[in-house]
Amino acid sequence: MLDARRRACLEAMGIELWRVRGEGNRLAENAPSHTEPPGQGSETGGGSLAPQRPLPTRTHPDQAPAVANLEPAAPQRATTVLGPEPSGFSWEELEVAVKTCTACDLHETRTQTVFGVGDRSTSLMVVGEAPGADEDRQGEPFVGRAGQLLNAMLQAIGFAREQVYIANIIKCRPPGNRDPHIEETAACQPFLHRQIALIQPRLILSVGRISAHNLLGTEEAVGRLRGRVHRFDPGDIPLIVTYHPAYLLRRPQEKSKAWQDLQAAYRTLGGRMV
Ligand code: SF4
Repeated sequence: MLDARRRACLEAMGIELWRVRGEGNRLAENAPSHTEPPGQGSETGGGSLAPQRPLPTRTHPDQAPAVANLEPAAPQRATTVLGPEPSGFSWEELEVAVKTCTACDLHETRTQTVFGVGDRSTSLMVVGEAPGADEDRQGEPFVGRAGQLLNAMLQAIGFAREQVYIANIIKCRPPGNRDPHIEETAACQPFLHRQIALIQPRLILSVGRISAHNLLGTEEAVGRLRGRVHRFDPGDIPLIVTYHPAYLLRRPQEKSKAWQDLQAAYRTLGGRMV
């Protein structure tokens, strides 16, 4: 059975326990726990995501993540570096570089940059799209209602917000919340790539269309990118695509699919919480 905290998280996500069980899906009753890791027993989450073998534990922050025995990598987009080149930067240098960056026009309209937040030695990195109005105001990614839903999603698989690292594809808000332009994402890409290289997560959870398209170099719909484990290059890091919380707020009927994705993320991490 689910503990009260995880049940509350699932309910916050809008996962209707009775409905999910009634569909034979058994998603909610198979929510991961420390004592009953996914991958043991029935935890197929509707069957759209193939079970993955647990990954070996990373033993040192500088050690490259071991990622054997996952599905074949998706094609990756070649890295295009049009903006800064922070490939050797420390965290401190990177923060300064982002804060003072004027590599694309978005610096003219931002209130502040939104660097990223969370545990820099985490196993799970969440990559979203771009700062919205709240994020631009507060300087932190995924705040507001979408952020609250993301927090609930993470808690449902045992992660507090502080236990993951959360960043966006670009660090400055596009005016009017428009999609970022290709030259903007290209200019900002080295910052995110350096963050990923410094963290060396064992899994990237890519949330939303813009994130998935930029991380995987594809234009496929999120619905088609879900359900398999991709690889992020550079780093050959397992990557799972799911819907953006803001999209889930507009289309709550898709939350059960996001829950499947989170279960797959949990399995890909080998059932370890942090
Ligand atoms: Fe620099 Fe990225 Fe902001 Fe553009 S979006 S100004 S590249 S930090």
